[in-house]
Amino acid sequence: METIQLSALFWEIGQWSGIAAFVALSLLIFSGDTARFWDRFFGLDRIIKFQRKFSLWTALFVLLHPVFFMLSRQNFLAFAIPDFSVPPLALGIVAFYVFALVMLASLLYKRISHLAWQYIHVVTYLLFALSLIHAWQWGSDSGSWWLQGIYIIALAAVVCGAIYRTQYKIRQMFGGKFLVKSLTRETADTFTLTISQEEPLQFRAGQFCFLRLPKDSLHARHPFTIASAPAEQDLRFTIKNAGRFTDSAGKLKKGEKVLIDGPFGRFYLRDGKKPLVFIAGGVGITPFISMLREQIAADNLHNRQPSARDITLLYGSRTFNDIIFKEELDSIKAPWFKKIYLLSETKAPKGKKQATAKLPKDCLPGYIDEKIIRRFVPDPAGALFYICGPEALKNSVKKILRQLKVPRSAIFVEDFFW
Ligand SMILES: Cc1cc2nc3c(=O)[nH]c(=O)nc-3n(C[C@H](O)[C@H](O)[C@H](O)COP(=O)(O)OP(=O)(O)OC[C@H]3O[C@@H](n4cnc5c(N)ncnc54)[C@H](O)[C@@H]3O)c2cc1C
Repeated sequence: METIQLSALFWEIGQWSGIAAFVALSLLIFSGDTARFWDRFFGLDRIIKFQRKFSLWTALFVLLHPVFFMLSRQNFLAFAIPDFSVPPLALGIVAFYVFALVMLASLLYKRISHLAWQYIHVVTYLLFALSLIHAWQWGSDSGSWWLQGIYIIALAAVVCGAIYRTQYKIRQMFGGKFLVKSLTRETADTFTLTISQEEPLQFRAGQFCFLRLPKDSLHARHPFTIASAPAEQDLRFTIKNAGRFTDSAGKLKKGEKVLIDGPFGRFYLRDGKKPLVFIAGGVGITPFISMLREQIAADNLHNRQPSARDITLLYGSRTFNDIIFKEELDSIKAPWFKKIYLLSETKAPKGKKQATAKLPKDCLPGYIDEKIIRRFVPDPAGALFYICGPEALKNSVKKILRQLKVPRSAIFVEDFFW
């Protein structure tokens, strides 16, 4: 008797996990296809992070679905090997293996070619179709009106998502051309890529784009913040050598084609009058230089607008020589701008000469810590904080700001590592 009850319970769990897997899979495909649309509301980075976590839940439900049926019927092979004399069940089993393949490809996304990734994306629609047929024709509750309602909503969502994605890709294919104009070295390991554009990209200072290089099999898209101001004629990206892609980007020649998808992200200035505090680490200065360039352009146009916001920049670098845009930042003499450089290494490495024996007034040794924030931001609770830099900087500054009673709504963070 107990065995029968347990078997029924396992069967029920198998059914529910199947429904959960189908709904989760539909949501995953829909959110992936329409991510660019939702960017303006949630930010693409958050959607990508959500998808990564959510795909694990989906995988769990997908796995539990056959496992509980196997446990319930004490039969492994019936749910592991497709038997095409029972087509809806066989399609469900095939869908399971297709799902495993797509998951594997997502994990290897950065290593496989973009073309292969696009084919795999088409496979997700096949996966959805197989799962839908399986659920509709095989699920033991599939006749119930509410389940059929779920299937119809899921189908409509996936079709709408696919249409949105297709029209986006077509528009992009016929969009403007982006060509390398010049490449300038900024510091030992950073350079600025200037790109000419046929039609100016509409973006807000602080947003990022995906770059792709149609060469060297570097098809995967890589995100980079736009360092130029929105009104500039050319697009500028300041890039730190981090690996294979950035290395190739640093070797681009004038006239070479670059594929740009964007702009994305919600790391831009919110309207209001509160003073701004920019906290940057290393190459995390890029969104701030775009914002500063924009405010300077506005300043020049209107001769110190009444709306110009007070900005304090706390910029952490490893050494004096690693400060990116130092000359440009030093040249900003506007009354609304205050800056301080923090250097984590002030001693010259053995055998090497430090560029400046004595640090200038606006350079301090150390990290951006509570003391520094208190010293340069007299009223932290009344300011808006924008943070962009390495994980360690981001986490420690967020902790300090919470201690200083800065509301969460006044803290904006851009992650460079998803
Ligand atoms: C929103 C955003 C804005 C960014 N803006 C800038 C910028 O203005 N300047 C700059 O120098 N860097 C920026 N980055 C970081 C930049 O995208 C990575 O350094 C770059 O993609 C590394 O590629 P790689 O092949 O040279 O190095 P790899 O050796 O492949 O990777 C180095 C590290 O970069 C990250 N990374 C690699 N590939 C990707 C990818 N496709 N998507 C996301 N992260 C990846 C990984 O965390 C990895 O550990 C930004 C990242 C994000 C998410």
